Amino acid sequence: MSYLCLCGHVIKDNIYPCPERGDLKWQTESENISQESFEALKEFFNAVENDAKNGWLLKFFNHSLYLKADMATIVIDIMSRYDGKEGRSVYRCPECERMYVQTKYRSDEYECFEKRTDYSRNAEGLAD
Ligand SMILES: [Zn+2]
Repeated sequence: MSYLCLCGHVIKDNIYPCPERGDLKWQTESENISQESFEALKEFFNAVENDAKNGWLLKFFNHSLYLKADMATIVIDIMSRYDGKEGRSVYRCPECERMYVQTKYRSDEYECFEKRTDYSRNAEGLAD
């Protein structure tokens, strides 16, 4: 896909990883993702310890591909499943640095945020 920025630049999203695309997750969303990943990993390792690994993998992934996968791949893919469940996509124009933030999870609508050059504040200036 590609997106036309207000400055006229076309932001292309046809490669992975895309240098102009990211994700915005609020801490509450990140915490939900961590908690769900943790619970799934705990279940997975319990299944491994109880010789129920293959059954658990088939149930979780619904695919036999994972029966021969190495543990690192399995762990990463378990975590990835939850990582994509929350948050919003963000695109940044490399020309003008405007940011386009998805209005909500899975929405086709984006809000535009423009960089201000008359504002700067270091971390110590932020209120608690
Ligand atoms: Zn732009």
